[in-house]
Amino acid sequence: MQARRFELFLKDLSALTRRQRERLLGLLLPAVKLDQAVDLIEQSTPHRLACPRCGSDRFHRHGRANGLQRYRCRNCARTCNALTGTPLARLRHKGRWLDYLGSMLESHSIRRAAAQLGIAGATSFRWRHRFLSLSKNDRPQRLSGIAEADEMYVLESHKGSRTLERAPRKRGGKATKRGISHEQMCILVARDRSGQTLDWVPGKGPVTPAQLHEHLKGRLEPDVLLVTDAHAAYRAFAREAGISHEAVNLKAGTRVRGALHVQNVNAYHSRLRGWLLPFRGVASRYLGNYLGWRWALDGGRVKTPDALLQAALGVRRPALFHT
Ligand SMILES: [Zn+2]
Repeated sequence: MQARRFELFLKDLSALTRRQRERLLGLLLPAVKLDQAVDLIEQSTPHRLACPRCGSDRFHRHGRANGLQRYRCRNCARTCNALTGTPLARLRHKGRWLDYLGSMLESHSIRRAAAQLGIAGATSFRWRHRFLSLSKNDRPQRLSGIAEADEMYVLESHKGSRTLERAPRKRGGKATKRGISHEQMCILVARDRSGQTLDWVPGKGPVTPAQLHEHLKGRLEPDVLLVTDAHAAYRAFAREAGISHEAVNLKAGTRVRGALHVQNVNAYHSRLRGWLLPFRGVASRYLGNYLGWRWALDGGRVKTPDALLQAALGVRRPALFHT
C-alpha cells in the first residue's frame, strides 16, 4: 500500500466499532505471527544453504513461497528454502508454530494443544514429533567429573499402533509380571554434577553391559568417576571399559557415601516420571522424543518458543542452551 493511502487508512481506524476492531485484529495477528516465525527461521538458517540435489551453494533469489524466501540453484535450477532438508520442511500454518511451541513449553498433551490452537489432532501429533525430532539431539557431548547413571522402567506402550502383539491394556495399566520384565521399557539416565544429562531408551527389560557400552561409553570423559547402584551390569561395563566406578549399595541401605550417591539422577527420574503421568502412557517408539522434550524443559533450560523453534531447526545457540 502506498504511504499516503496507508496514512488515510490509519486515520479511518479511529472510526471503527469495537467489533470491527476485533475483526481487524483477527486478520492482522496471524499475519504478524507468521512474520515472526519466518524471521526466526530465516535468521536461524542463514549460510548453511546447500542445494538438496547437487550440493551447490550458489543460488539466485527466486521469489517467496509460503512466507519464506525461495532460492534457485544456479547449477541445477532446483529450488529450496531455509527449511529444506529439516524435519519442518513442508509443515503448514507457520503462523501458528510459535503458539504451538508455547503450548509445548507448558507440557500440554497433543489433544489439548490441538484444541487450544484450533488445529486437527493429527496435525498436532505431526507437529509435536517434527518439532522434537531434532530438538531431542540438543544434548551435551560428554559427561565429566562425577557422573551418576541409573535406569528406570516404564510399561511398554503400543499406543496409536494399528497392530497389537497382545490384548490391549487399559491406558496406563499394570504389568502382568512382577519385577523388571520384557513388558518394561528401560530408560537409562546419566547425569554429572554440573547437571548435564544424557538419556537413552536401550530397549525392553533390564539394562545389559552391551547396551551400556553402546550408549554410555563414548559419552563419558576418560577420567570420569561413574557412580551407580549395585546392578552387576554397571560393574561389568566399567571394568571392561576401563572407567573408574563406585557402586552404592541401595539394597543394603547405603544411600550416600560422601559424594558417592545417585540422588541427582534419581531426582531426574522422579521429575521425568511425574511429568510423563499426564500423557497417560507414551507410545514406546516416541519415548526418545519425550526424553528430549523433558531435557529441554528441565531446570528451565529452554524458556521461550523462539528457543524451542531454534532447537527444532537443529540450531545450537550456546547462550540459549546452557544449563
Ligand atoms: Zn543444485
